Amino acid sequence: MRLSQAFLPVLKESPSDAQIVSHKLMLRAGLIRQMAAGIYAWLPLGWRVLRKIEQIVREEQDRAGSIEMLMPTIQPAELWRESGRYDAYGPEMLRIRDRHDREMLYGPTNEEMLTALFRDDVKSYRDLPRTLYHIQWKFRDEVRPRFGVMRGREFLMKDAYSFDLDEAGARHSYYTQLLAYLRTFKRMGIKAVPMKAASGPIGGDLSHEFIVLAPTGESEVFYDSHFEDMDWEREGLAYGDATGLQALFDEVSGTYAATDETHDEARWAEVSADRRRQGRGIEVGHIFYFGTKYSDAMGLRVSGRGGDMITPHMGSYGVGVSRLVGAIIEASHDEAGIIWPEAVAPWKVGIVTMRGDDQASIQAAEGLYAQLNAAGVETLYDDRDERGGAKLAGMDLMGLPWQVIIGPRGLATGVVELKSRRTGVREQLSLESVMARLTA
Ligand code: ATP
Ligand code: MG
Repeated sequence: MRLSQAFLPVLKESPSDAQIVSHKLMLRAGLIRQMAAGIYAWLPLGWRVLRKIEQIVREEQDRAGSIEMLMPTIQPAELWRESGRYDAYGPEMLRIRDRHDREMLYGPTNEEMLTALFRDDVKSYRDLPRTLYHIQWKFRDEVRPRFGVMRGREFLMKDAYSFDLDEAGARHSYYTQLLAYLRTFKRMGIKAVPMKAASGPIGGDLSHEFIVLAPTGESEVFYDSHFEDMDWEREGLAYGDATGLQALFDEVSGTYAATDETHDEARWAEVSADRRRQGRGIEVGHIFYFGTKYSDAMGLRVSGRGGDMITPHMGSYGVGVSRLVGAIIEASHDEAGIIWPEAVAPWKVGIVTMRGDDQASIQAAEGLYAQLNAAGVETLYDDRDERGGAKLAGMDLMGLPWQVIIGPRGLATGVVELKSRRTGVREQLSLESVMARLTA
């Protein structure tokens, strides 16, 4: 993308209405604009990042055997009356009436809808187990929407739902998601510690929240530093390996990690002092096992092997896709701006000409831009006739992992600069070496 043709509105001043750094940076670097309280337009830069995050979530869900689908944002109230949550949900639910005076709502989550779909189409034990998911906008009329996309009213969530024949099967599905979540967040360049959670309004007794550590997080967290050294990817662990998944779960639940809601002083005291870590964190995912709560309430039953009727056990598994954009920035930035982990960066490389009127620089930049595009490397080329310093500041603010800085002085000796946004290290390299490095 050429910056001269892009829509990347950058703010010079730090926005005064934003309280936390990720919100400030998302406004300044032009990722989002607020359209109403807690409701945002995703500008091109933000949209690119959001799609990268969504795609990692999707790939890891698919790899774990979950099946993608798409449910609507608007739901009929009857579904929620069946589960008994229509009244229980309270003012966070956005209730709507259509022209025929039918009661509708903008979905805050989809347990009811998927249970109903499953009930109508699945009749036999042979069709279980299944885990289905979608990535769809949700609406919760939060009392205090704040911190930008971190606590929005409209937000993008991945929500998966598992259906199993019994509790053992449901636990396997739960452990599968646990591993998928560890892998998902690791790929995004962040560590989200699974912490024992209170099960809350969904009900049930098995629940973990995935928490990214950041000083601006809304909850206070306590965890054993063993999580910092843990192997999050478990490359050798297959999703079908029930014993391996059980061992993973035992390791996770046997290592102390809790939010202020579930914190247990007695168990905390047993963690050796040098391993106690305390701080604040942001919830980016939440997984639940809730047994037959919805299947019972909504009459989901399938025939079993011997003709008996079975009530499936369910779990649900959420990832805050849009919240992650803010959470990653909270975990990865400096005074100059955002520092994107490569896997979620809007572009991998930014090209800057220090002198927009120098023909040799323009020629070198154009050539490199064409080569990077041909090699499939996502590149933002600042081809505007602006001061070099201002362009560099813009690149730092937007946080692309690599900058190629091209100026007449370097070109005279056949080199350009390759700068790593994360380390700040600048290397003088030939254009060929830059190409080799960026396509390695
Ligand atoms: P919170 O405790 O932060 O209000 P929650 O427990 O109500 O969240 P869940 O129902 O567990 O949220 O939803 C799954 C995920 O969706 C959360 O882990 C979070 O990442 C994300 N999420 C929930 N509410 C919001 C919101 N208002 N804005 C952005 N993301 C949200
Ligand atoms: Mg939650």
